[in-house]
Amino acid sequence: MAELTQAAAVLSVNDLTPHVRQLVLLPTVQNIAFQPGQWVSLKLPVGAKPPLNRAYSMAAPGTRSGELTLIFDRVPGGMGSNYLYTLIAGDDTQLSGPYGNFTLPMPLNRELIMIARYTGLVPIRCMLKHLYAQRQTATILLIAVAPAEEELLFHQELLTLAVTHPGFRYLPLVAAGGEQQGVDLTLSMLRPLIDGMPKVIPMLCGTKGFVRPLRTCFVKAEYDRKEVKTETYD
Ligand SMILES: Cc1cc2nc3c(=O)[nH]c(=O)nc-3n(C[C@H](O)[C@H](O)[C@H](O)COP(=O)(O)OP(=O)(O)OC[C@H]3O[C@@H](n4cnc5c(N)ncnc54)[C@H](O)[C@@H]3O)c2cc1C
Repeated sequence: MAELTQAAAVLSVNDLTPHVRQLVLLPTVQNIAFQPGQWVSLKLPVGAKPPLNRAYSMAAPGTRSGELTLIFDRVPGGMGSNYLYTLIAGDDTQLSGPYGNFTLPMPLNRELIMIARYTGLVPIRCMLKHLYAQRQTATILLIAVAPAEEELLFHQELLTLAVTHPGFRYLPLVAAGGEQQGVDLTLSMLRPLIDGMPKVIPMLCGTKGFVRPLRTCFVKAEYDRKEVKTETYD
């Protein structure tokens, strides 16, 4: 059955970095029950043939009151994200969902290596909040790549998590030279961590230009493609 399209009210708007914004939305017809890692489809009143559908992952686990936390970067010239930047508290927007299979594998019987570039971190942050709210003791390594120091998302939160949870390691990377530099720096960090080591569960998120070369790296290290969980944004 198709998911219901409904209005959601904008409860709050916050800038997290110079180019990343958080919107908290409250669906007005019915709560959306979702798993960490899933996304909603926003139907935006812009473009040549509105609505323009754009997907946004939930950044925080579900709550009893049903609000949805979405976090996105402002893409230069991007019609969807620039429209979202015009919304203020009290506005509403149409959405449907939840959708998606980029969710936590269960059981977590191997180390998780999660790698994201920029807002690719959003669904992973939701999974981490969910896991640590449940006092999970899984071993997790997170590599998070940002285009600038001030664009490192959730940086303080992740540093704190790494100090308070011995099983969680956080490796932030700044690649100011663009996506390809992000790939190169991540690969040079990743290869020694996986070559000849016991298999991990890889989860990768970001644009295709970032995710695909990393998946290839795992495949070269004798992972089956299906063992590498990916979410691509474009
Ligand atoms: C399953 C899924 C979940 C997503 N979750 C999020 C999320 O939580 N946060 C978020 O910011 N975006 C997310 N996206 C991307 C989002 O749907 C839009 O594609 C993005 O906001 C750009 O839309 P636009 O209309 O502004 O730009 P468009 O005009 O569609 O331009 C897109 C181009 O901008 C570049 N680009 C830069 N940043 C992004 C980005 N973040 N996503 C996609 N392309 C980008 C790419 O080169 C791409 O070709 C998700 C996409 C998918 C498919």
